[in-house]
Amino acid sequence: MRHPRTAATPTMTDPQAPDAPSHFIREIIRSDIQTNKQGAGVYTRFPPEPNGYLHVGHAKAICLNFGIAQEFGGRCNLRFDDTNPEQEDAEYVEAIKRDVHWLGYEWTELRHASDYFEQLYQYAVTLIENGKAYVDDLSAEEIRAHRGTLTQPGRESAARQRSREENLDLFARMRAGEFRDGEKVLRAKIDMASPNINLRDPVLYRIKHATHQNTGDAWCIYPMYDFTMSLSDAIEGVTHSLCTLEFEDHRPLYDWLLDELPVPSRPRQIEFSRLNLGYTITSKRKLNQLVQEGHTGGWDDPRMPTISGMRRRGYPPEALRDFCGRIGITKNEAQIDFEVLENSVREALNQSAERRLAVLDPLRVVIENYPEGQTEQCTAANHPFREELGSRQVPFSRVLYIEREDFMETPAKKFFRLAPGREVRLRFAYYITCTDTVRDEHGEIVELRCSYDPQSLGGTPDGRKVKGTIHWVSAEHAATANVRLFDRLFLSANPAAEQDYVEHLNPESLQVLRECRLEPALLDAPPGARYQFERQGYFSVDTADSAPGAPVFNRIVTLRDSWAKASARQRA
Ligand code: ATP
Ligand code: MG
Repeated sequence: MRHPRTAATPTMTDPQAPDAPSHFIREIIRSDIQTNKQGAGVYTRFPPEPNGYLHVGHAKAICLNFGIAQEFGGRCNLRFDDTNPEQEDAEYVEAIKRDVHWLGYEWTELRHASDYFEQLYQYAVTLIENGKAYVDDLSAEEIRAHRGTLTQPGRESAARQRSREENLDLFARMRAGEFRDGEKVLRAKIDMASPNINLRDPVLYRIKHATHQNTGDAWCIYPMYDFTMSLSDAIEGVTHSLCTLEFEDHRPLYDWLLDELPVPSRPRQIEFSRLNLGYTITSKRKLNQLVQEGHTGGWDDPRMPTISGMRRRGYPPEALRDFCGRIGITKNEAQIDFEVLENSVREALNQSAERRLAVLDPLRVVIENYPEGQTEQCTAANHPFREELGSRQVPFSRVLYIEREDFMETPAKKFFRLAPGREVRLRFAYYITCTDTVRDEHGEIVELRCSYDPQSLGGTPDGRKVKGTIHWVSAEHAATANVRLFDRLFLSANPAAEQDYVEHLNPESLQVLRECRLEPALLDAPPGARYQFERQGYFSVDTADSAPGAPVFNRIVTLRDSWAKASARQRA
């Protein structure tokens, strides 16, 4: 199995790290191994339905299933739960494979529930033969009406009395395509009075004349979720079937199927809570709506909480694994703050990202005592604490750009950067003093006149100190590029709970800065490369919109968590 920790750093809580905090599923598995309850090995699986792109919630399930398998020297399958042909697509299958790989995991075997359609059909026949299933003619609506409530038992369908022979014949004819969609279903014969509604003769098969992305037109009946999941797990020899809490009430049915059928193995289902992340949505269906209605630039829009969106934005995979380790595995439904994810991203990038100089909102600076036409190269360290990443040369000349917000005409208290008459250090270069300002016809400052101290490269002979250090680029040498800043996709902390989450989209979630000036080394930055723009944040070269020599940058995350403060201010 591919090891996911290649780029991880020792300070991070990778879920596979031996010192990662334990959780109840790990403890159950440990104890199962000790008592040989599920056999000696550990076999898990990640079973997505290929009806959309994976999101950050799936990352939690992936890290758990593949992580547990790695930890115990076990195996983990990727299984497509492809039983709803109308919603599924080969595009999603490919995207899901890509995402699992990108997260750093390799499956033991790639399977599809549809690989088992024949075997599942035979299991259904066995149930009928054993008097444990029957063909019903009730419509979906009638079945619902017969089901009863939490306080009232359900009512039995007349079809429950059908003979084995009749059921076998009808089920074969369902398969042969003799009936229309919805005309017949196969139901388990369990108990219409069970306190667990999932056991009130649940539907096992329905008719759907639809072309399937994997099996084409071979089938017109498709097995239902619980039936498929339980038996597919058993067929694959899965020992621990890890799923989210909404399936807790389905476990009795999961186990009933294992009891009633001659399955080759007996998996154990364990439920854990879903990941809910603040200011975002973790539902493929709802994310699909955002994509279909054009609210975002697609599944991999860098603002999307999809794995492909986060990849394109520049989140490193080790940051997602670290995040999944930190949030842990419990049975408590809680919402995790987006900041927790961003902190994992920052921590990973602080280790791995080389530093560069980039000015996002340029203000021209002319150094009047610097010789015209002269260029010198300043040595700039690529990383503050990883010397092995080396250094590069950054050209310095008479005309520079600095960040507009690094100058204040009338400096506020605690503003230690450039102001008239004030001296600051230019990162990796000289001290400069602002001597004058130039205004346009609207009175707006468009240029600063400065002087520099030729003795001040790396400090001054007289040892005088300045309070501010600012970044800069040489105007003549700089590259111009578009830089995209992202904000939360939603303004609501819990958009899924809103009546119409689309109305809570943040209209300002994307801001494009068009006149950014970057140090020349960034011009050739390869797509996907990630940097810290000093004092600005972490940025990546967009993989879709960049062209050779014309990179487009995405802001991955700010250097500090400025958002929590800003929103607190807004609320106040
Ligand atoms: P969606 O509503 O987004 O389609 P789903 O649960 O229907 O979610 P599946 O493709 O069936 O999506 O999910 C595959 C696996 O991922 C399942 O085992 C499911 O429990 C798990 N999973 C899905 N969403 C989350 C989440 N938010 N947190 C943790 N695990 C999740
Ligand atoms: Mg689903």
